[in-house]
Amino acid sequence: MMRALAREAADDLSLAARLHAHIAENGPLTVEAFMQACLSDAASGAYTSRQPIGGAGDFITAPEISQIFGELIGLWSVSVWQSMGAPRAVTVAELGPGRGSLMADALRAWRAVPAFLDVISVALIETSPVMVAAQRSALREARVPVSWYATLDELPDGPLIVLANEFIDALPIRQFIYRDGTWLERLIASDGSGGFCFTEGNRLALGDQASDLPDEAPDGSILEMRPAARTLLYELARRASVAPLAVLIIDYGHDEAGFGDTLQAVRGHRFAATLADPGSADLSAHVDFADLKRRASALGLKPYGPVPQGEFLLKLGLGERRNRLLQRATPAQAEAIASGASRLVDPKQMGILFKALALTGADRPPPPPFGPQHLTVSY
Ligand code: SAH
Repeated sequence: MMRALAREAADDLSLAARLHAHIAENGPLTVEAFMQACLSDAASGAYTSRQPIGGAGDFITAPEISQIFGELIGLWSVSVWQSMGAPRAVTVAELGPGRGSLMADALRAWRAVPAFLDVISVALIETSPVMVAAQRSALREARVPVSWYATLDELPDGPLIVLANEFIDALPIRQFIYRDGTWLERLIASDGSGGFCFTEGNRLALGDQASDLPDEAPDGSILEMRPAARTLLYELARRASVAPLAVLIIDYGHDEAGFGDTLQAVRGHRFAATLADPGSADLSAHVDFADLKRRASALGLKPYGPVPQGEFLLKLGLGERRNRLLQRATPAQAEAIASGASRLVDPKQMGILFKALALTGADRPPPPPFGPQHLTVSY
């Protein structure tokens, strides 16, 4: 619906104008439809119309902060492949690879493991043409096959390692609010003076989503739900039933279920008003790790974690890798290496808010650092 709207009028109307027109004709939008349009509108979406990641953009992510992040995740992938019995072909798929930095750093680490390079192909799952162009450029020297897909579903079945850093937080959420003994969907309407405002929909029909909502909550409680994450888990569980699978999800979020509005906008590295100037800021919302874990288990996947990102990276050997890099660094490089590494693990920075959750098929050995094995390759 939103995409058709975008195609019709993209040339001459701002996204805000098109959303207002849509609301005038069809009524308020769900938070999900609004978020989808702000991030992925063909003409004005935050990911589709420009490249928002990095110093000059709206936000920065772990792979942009330190090369160690992608290197350690690369070596994590090797370890997981070994515990799959080292199959002769394996795909490493990354969901929402951004600028391609994580995969570029992983590929560099894999040079220390020729046997792995011989058997892997890389699949990048990306919807934004602007991002695909950035990834192509970052990976132009890859010595393994690299292909792009719009969705994971398009990838052929087979042994698979899936990496997702700050991907789930960008998947649109729905919001529900508890009012006078009943759940209502939170919607977005025109505020009458050129902007947008929250409003509340009618009592929910007792469909799918209603059965997931608790019977009671304090008045005004907000509950978030992420349909696209559920669809992703179904697809992962299906794949795990036909071939070895390991998944690593790293994102910001909470590991206890709870109420609250976590929708946030970030523009130029600062928080911005969520509904102002659609498409001009990055919109995201906390990942509900408790929900992911519960649903993954119900689908037959085995979850490990979540553990805080700091703990995860330190157990994978972040300290050792940092020290090796420092040994051959200039003073200026040394400063960047040390501050980047500490930003990833410092509890006051990304160390605790960000969490790592691994998923595997049933009856597989636990991936590092959840089992007895350590990363066997040093680089
Ligand atoms: N993983 C990267 C980028 C995170 S930003 C990093 O850590 O730097 C989110 C990424 O997901 C962007 O590349 C965005 O274009 C992509 N994306 C958002 N929604 C998507 C979807 N539904 N399918 C595939 N990619 C998506």
